[in-house]
Amino acid sequence: MSDLTVGLIGASYVAASRMVPAFQANGVRTRALFDTEERRFQYWRNSNLDLLTSDLAEFLDSGINAVYISSRNDQHAAHAIAAAEAGKHVLLEKPMALSVADARAIVASADKAGVQLAVNHHLPGSPLHVTARQLVADGRIGTLYSARVNHAVLLPEHLRGWRLADVPGGGVVFDITVHDASVLNPLFGGVPRQVTALGVSQAPWNRAGTPDSVMTVIEYPAGDSGVPGLAQTHDAFAVPDPGTSMEIHGESGAIIIGDAMNQDTPGTVELHTASGIEKVEVDCSDDLYHINVRAFAAAVRGEGRPTATGIDGVRALQVAVAVEESLKSGQAVAIGDV
Ligand code: NDP
Repeated sequence: MSDLTVGLIGASYVAASRMVPAFQANGVRTRALFDTEERRFQYWRNSNLDLLTSDLAEFLDSGINAVYISSRNDQHAAHAIAAAEAGKHVLLEKPMALSVADARAIVASADKAGVQLAVNHHLPGSPLHVTARQLVADGRIGTLYSARVNHAVLLPEHLRGWRLADVPGGGVVFDITVHDASVLNPLFGGVPRQVTALGVSQAPWNRAGTPDSVMTVIEYPAGDSGVPGLAQTHDAFAVPDPGTSMEIHGESGAIIIGDAMNQDTPGTVELHTASGIEKVEVDCSDDLYHINVRAFAAAVRGEGRPTATGIDGVRALQVAVAVEESLKSGQAVAIGDV
């Protein structure tokens, strides 16, 4: 049994479907649930939590030492800062906030309180992406040039609520592009220099007309190799699932990841070089959310780092915020380091 006793902030679908099972499977107790909307407790009446409450002070005082936050995107910053100030370790859903300033304030409050802060990006810890990064680091494709992410999916009907609405935190960019950035940033080993993006609304059921199909180009500065990198992403809610994928191109080869951005499906990794195509063996038996829970619990014990730290979360958010700006202005948007 872990030393952690977790309280849930947000009576969310992802908490019920993914994270509570992940906590339970890894010996982490879940004790209390907080949400600002009591209506949302309807899904949790049969849970074995001791407390369902819309009183944040009561929640924070319920004997928990950590929180998992999956409230509305626009509430993440206030909830994370309140939890950190109360001395709770924080596992925070993506996007960690809606502005880079708020995300930095979350990191500052966790640092000040001396608590662990992790962002629940599930893809950078995927064995597929860990393997790809290792192949690049081992020089198997030579100097890294570019990457292309296909993350165009069909949004399930039950999730066609706030994700489509023209509200702060809605839209495909804060939902999906931020995931792409969580994988691309550690691959290129740095902070992007600039992004440019175009988006349109395509789904007939997207009544708000918000961009539900967005293509982005990201430039990464030259690192030790002296060669700058380029990444391209396609994020969409209305494409009957062709399967996600990612290509990584280098001076002397390429890595092709099948089902690269999926939550569940075990994927594939192929290495393409002058000697031919090698299927790389990857053990995909572990659940990506279990990986995150274990890394978070270990980091709280002082062992290792979370899959995505607070700073990793800020950097992923910087890309999403810049993409939103580019969609509005039609211009390339520069990104600075945090
Ligand atoms: P919601 O909790 O809003 O769930 C979406 C819809 O599902 C709700 O509007 C609700 O419909 C319905 N719902 C909510 N709870 C349940 C339940 N227990 N059982 C059945 N249906 C339910 O949002 P999400 O959970 O999708 O997202 C919450 C946060 O988590 C966001 O910040 C999001 O970005 C993040 N997230 C992260 C993921 C990751 O992989 N890291 C994956 C998914 C979300 P109704 O309103 O009609 O009751």
